[in-house]
Amino acid sequence: MDTSLVISGAIVLGAGGIFHLLENRIPLEKVDRSKFLKFDLVVVSIIAIVVAALTIWLLDGVVKEWLDSTIGGFDTLTSLPILARVSLALIIGDFGYYIVHRLMHTNVLWRTHVFHHSIQEIYWFSGLRTSALNSLFIRMPYLVALCLFSIPASILAIVAISLGVINFWVHSNLEVSLGPLNYILITPSFHRVHHSMAEEALNRNFGNILSCWDYMFKTAVKPTKYLNNSKKGFDVETNDVPRQMFGL
Ligand SMILES: [Zn+2]
Ligand SMILES: [Zn+2]
Repeated sequence: MDTSLVISGAIVLGAGGIFHLLENRIPLEKVDRSKFLKFDLVVVSIIAIVVAALTIWLLDGVVKEWLDSTIGGFDTLTSLPILARVSLALIIGDFGYYIVHRLMHTNVLWRTHVFHHSIQEIYWFSGLRTSALNSLFIRMPYLVALCLFSIPASILAIVAISLGVINFWVHSNLEVSLGPLNYILITPSFHRVHHSMAEEALNRNFGNILSCWDYMFKTAVKPTKYLNNSKKGFDVETNDVPRQMFGL
């Protein structure tokens, strides 16, 4: 097996372990992590394979063709220092994520996203419950932005690991505040509000890495104890699981 794949997997698992221990020490609310673990392990494994295949197919096909035909026009972007390229790609990709996530909360794409909103016990691992189409659509802005800035494969691996760890971070059951940085970066409590079924939290807090998009476009709701502890997630009928898993 590819060594870098094993190392990447070990880093992500290690990060998960750290979140697990931190959740034991500073939990935001009472969560039963074992309630849906078996279900999530099965669906996450199936979806991961489908998404990996679809991503490779898309990146090798449609997206690559488009990039090959347009990349010549972006010489200025690709000649920037690597740190600037990665930072810009992540900022642009994160803005794209915000837009796609907002679209997913409209009738057009809700079917692809509802599975993520069936999470009722939110902790570091639970955020991996997303439909195949959801995973594909929502990661596309990052992938396209990273390709536009010609980020080399070795750095792409680091970015992929970081995005995985960020998914653990935003869904973790942690009582953490970043002070004034709360207005720039997503915290676990900020994303927890996105999953709340409370009236004032519906269609709010769409960001993934940066919370500034929500504050700029007035879709931000500040986390409160009431919102963080409120009911989360829709029930999924067993016979509807396959459809929701694929996001069809
Ligand atoms: Zn959502
Ligand atoms: Zn989420």
